[in-house]
Amino acid sequence: MHQMTLAEIARGLADKKFSSEELTKVLLARITQLDPQLNSFISLTEELALAQAKAADARRANGESGALLGAPIAHKDLFCTQGIRTSCGSKMLDNFKAPYDATVVAKLAAAGAVTLGKTNMDEFAMGSANESSWYGAVKNPWNLEHVPGGSSGGSAAAVAARLLPAATATDTGGSIRQPAAFTNLTGLKPTYGRVSRWGMIAYASSLDQGGPLARTAEDCAILLQGMAGFDQNDSTSIDEPVPEYSAGLNTSLQGLRIGVPKEYFSAGLDPRIAELIQNSIKELQKLGAVIKEISLPNMQHAIPAYYVIAPAEASSNLSRFDGVRFGHRCENPENLIDLYKRSRGEGFGPEVQRRIMVGAYALSAGYYDAYYLKAQKIRRLVKNDFMAAFNEVDIILGPTTPNPAWKLGAKNSDPVAAYLEDVYTITANLAGLPGLSMPAGFVDGLPVGVQLLAPYFQEGRLLNVAHQYQLNTDWHTRTPTGF
Ligand code: GLN
Repeated sequence: MHQMTLAEIARGLADKKFSSEELTKVLLARITQLDPQLNSFISLTEELALAQAKAADARRANGESGALLGAPIAHKDLFCTQGIRTSCGSKMLDNFKAPYDATVVAKLAAAGAVTLGKTNMDEFAMGSANESSWYGAVKNPWNLEHVPGGSSGGSAAAVAARLLPAATATDTGGSIRQPAAFTNLTGLKPTYGRVSRWGMIAYASSLDQGGPLARTAEDCAILLQGMAGFDQNDSTSIDEPVPEYSAGLNTSLQGLRIGVPKEYFSAGLDPRIAELIQNSIKELQKLGAVIKEISLPNMQHAIPAYYVIAPAEASSNLSRFDGVRFGHRCENPENLIDLYKRSRGEGFGPEVQRRIMVGAYALSAGYYDAYYLKAQKIRRLVKNDFMAAFNEVDIILGPTTPNPAWKLGAKNSDPVAAYLEDVYTITANLAGLPGLSMPAGFVDGLPVGVQLLAPYFQEGRLLNVAHQYQLNTDWHTRTPTGF
């Protein structure tokens, strides 16, 4: 039962082959049995899950239908869930029970999805390996000595290990696409503004975007359908109609113009990944796509710009965690300053503290123009590169990451080495564009992802291309041994 995709579950539920309650019990037992190896969950919500499953079964018995009605999922632990711990992977919020549901959580619950639990993540979504979580590192089901990627490593590891069919995640600089690549999943970061950020604990507000992690593009379409749409509670949410994503999956790729940036194939890219990317290009050509070399000349500036802008926004967003209103508070503060200092010093881990310091520095009066303003100008150049490229092509294709998943601990002493691994993903966040990663093969038994980028609000095009690719390849069907 645990091998089923969301689409298969929807059919099985509609055909009354099993109930949501039965499926939920099977998956909860599987999580209890297997998750100790992975550490992909921070909280299990068994009671809620069983109640939601029973309610979904009752709605179906009453004649209701819907692809998510009774479908088991989990939420990355930065989506607020009413009455349930929402930790953001941090000691700071270990005792925080959200007083309300995030819009994404509420929408999915209304569609009948069943929440099995909250998944592990890098602390405040800062990281690429899920090693900065206060709840401990997550292991990659493909090789337990390797990282699953981050920051949505818990969602990725859980779905890859078939503990559940799909999960929510967020992507500020690659945190949906990179863990998807590292664990052989399909993950979609939507256009900025497509999915509400209300109740999604902020890391860098101008870059953060929620999206689906699943095994197939078909499943990402189902989950995105339940997440997307305008929300008046989020001032950056965009009031654009949400298309029927599943309906567009079967469009032919005949004549589709795919741009391949020449900058992507530089010295930093593992040649074995380069070869797999070339194979996926050939596969898409067989389906009728036309390949064109393009250029994204400002790509080389994206990492430094991102690692100024994201920490700058984080330093502002995280100032609310002061030990006064909610979250961790130190014992016996001597005065207000001592309360702030010790609560924040004890509550935040080293990577979060590093970013707060970098961000506060970049925003300080003497350095604002030199760092923050400069980074914003680069951001515009990166966006302009994409706009020019999309005048010539329909999608852009390349690797999701320059290397496969590294060993646990391998980059812990050198944060910049980890930052450099984000080279292919962060440009989409700087520009606000949608991006998808899908399985493209293996290197040393570790999965490799191919990334597709599209113009604003063309999530449907990404899902269409990925679905057609998946109808003709079987990488996405491979299961890690032991799971
Ligand atoms: N690795 C990037 C960072 O650490 C991206 C994280 C994310 O997308 N949340 O900032």
